[in-house]
Amino acid sequence: MPWAIAVGLVPRKVWLWLLGVILVLCFLLMILFTSAITTLMGFQKNNTNENVESVELVNGKAQISEALDQYRPLFEKYSAKYGVSEYVELLLAKTMQESGGQLADVMQASESLGLPPNTIQDPERSIKVGIRYFANMLEKADGDVKLAIQAYNFGGGFINYANEYNNGEYSKELAIEFSRMKYQELKHTGMYSCIRPESAATGACYGDIGYVEAVLSYLKGGTIKTDVQPTGEWVMPIAGALTQTSDYGMRSDPFDGTPAMHRGIDFACTNAVTSIQSVDNGQVVEVERSHSGYGNNVLIKHKDGLYSHYAHLYTISVQNGEVLQKGDEIGKCGTTGNSTGPHLHFEVMTTKQYGSDINPAPYLGL
Ligand SMILES: [Zn+2]
Repeated sequence: MPWAIAVGLVPRKVWLWLLGVILVLCFLLMILFTSAITTLMGFQKNNTNENVESVELVNGKAQISEALDQYRPLFEKYSAKYGVSEYVELLLAKTMQESGGQLADVMQASESLGLPPNTIQDPERSIKVGIRYFANMLEKADGDVKLAIQAYNFGGGFINYANEYNNGEYSKELAIEFSRMKYQELKHTGMYSCIRPESAATGACYGDIGYVEAVLSYLKGGTIKTDVQPTGEWVMPIAGALTQTSDYGMRSDPFDGTPAMHRGIDFACTNAVTSIQSVDNGQVVEVERSHSGYGNNVLIKHKDGLYSHYAHLYTISVQNGEVLQKGDEIGKCGTTGNSTGPHLHFEVMTTKQYGSDINPAPYLGL
């Protein structure tokens, strides 16, 4: 029987009723489908953005100095006490950024008590206060680790700011905005200075806007790019002929003749001509242009956890954060800063901190 006749045979009321049921069913199916997709996407987002990153932050192993390693039991003790045991490595990484384990106020925790910097004289007290402060920040940040790390540097006000303007989440842009705002408010006190070229450029000179990246660089899987592999064999830091003019170790000070520690090796070179080059693959972590101390100098972090430091340069041709290959030029030989004539002062350090130097000779095969 033709279709039209069959439709005609079914009472109009039943037909409308059937149509209604089909429409309702379609609608329900659509809702089900949409929510399934949303859940799936939400799960994926969580998985890549939050969970994986947190796992990485927590499971990374901190690259720390021997000076700091001696305090490890205290970090374990107090992180257990304040319920942040899974963050021991992160706390050690943070401490590398704060003091490298070289100062009595190891975690630079004095300011969290409202005291002037380095007021705490007992390392154990510093670790206790520092970890308690971090645990507070982590709780206030509702588990957002990066937000808690930055708040350790900026103070808890940054978390309120994130809640108000960024759904309670950390971002570098937010840190820059906050730092700029606070600096406008507080620069008249003269207590703050632009510690990074990036800070000076953006006017974000309150605290350290690069703090999160700096801390994470001490954890494997941090900001050091993984495509840069250590080669295990260093090249010389200056191109061409080598004349070593001063050894590492105690010597008489070239300015006043008193015994002084020489923290690197000096090489003779030609002012503004000799090329200074990175001894291995790595990332530039500090560029300073100065007329005193090390003069124009560059600090490079290598994947094996060591730093190489090049001082008294005439010009610098690299930027902070730049990834370098072994032998890349970083500048020209000079005599800037505390120097008596054109030479390269070359140091090898185990942390970013002054004083963590070791003898560079074996690394250069000298
Ligand atoms: Zn020197």
